[in-house]
Amino acid sequence: MPFKIAIIRAGLTGLLLARLLNQADKGIEFEIFDSASTLGDSKDYILNVYRRNGKVALKIAGVWDAFFNAARWDGDALTISDKNLFKYYSHGPSKPGSVFAGAEIGKNKLREVLCDGLPEKSLEPEDASHQSDG
Ligand SMILES: Cc1cc2nc3c(=O)[nH]c(=O)nc-3n(C[C@H](O)[C@H](O)[C@H](O)COP(=O)(O)OP(=O)(O)OC[C@H]3O[C@@H](n4cnc5c(N)ncnc54)[C@H](O)[C@@H]3O)c2cc1C
Repeated sequence: MPFKIAIIRAGLTGLLLARLLNQADKGIEFEIFDSASTLGDSKDYILNVYRRNGKVALKIAGVWDAFFNAARWDGDALTISDKNLFKYYSHGPSKPGSVFAGAEIGKNKLREVLCDGLPEKSLEPEDASHQSDG
C-alpha cells in the first residue's frame, strides 16, 4: 500500500532523510513540516564536518559535488607556535574532498545544499508547531 512520510523539522537530519528518500527513487512520497515560516533560520554558524560518516552520508544523498564546492577544506591545518611565531609544529590541510579531510560549512548553506533539487511540493514551510502541542 502506498504511504506518505511526514518529516517533522527541516533541520539537517530531516533534510538529509528527505534527500535519501528522493535519491532512492522508489516513488516514496514525503513532506517536510517545520515551525519556521522560511527554511533556513536566522541562527547560522559554521559546522565542522570532520568525521567520515557525515561525508559518506552526503555522498549517498547525492549532494557531494555541491557540498564539495560550498565547503572550506583548509580547516584542519594546524600550527603551534610561540608569540614570536617560532613554529613548534605545523601541518597543512588534508587533501580537499577526501572523506577523512576536515570540511567546514555554514549550517544554512548546508541546508541549502540539501534542499536544492528536492521536489518543491515537499518543501512548503508550514506551521507545524501545533503538532508539538500534543
Ligand atoms: C554554535 C553551534 C555549533 C555547532 N557546531 C557543530 C559542528 O561543528 N559540527 C556538528 O556536527 N554539529 C554542530 N552543531 C550541532 C548541529 O548544528 C546540530 O546537531 C544540527 O543542526 C541539528 O540538526 P537537526 O536536524 O537535529 O535539527 P533540528 O533541531 O531537528 O531542526 C531544526 C529545525 O526544526 C524546526 N523546529 C523546531 N521545533 C519545531 C517544532 N516543534 N515543530 C516543527 N519544526 C520545529 C526549526 O524551525 C528548525 O528549522 C553545532 C550547534 C551549535 C548551536
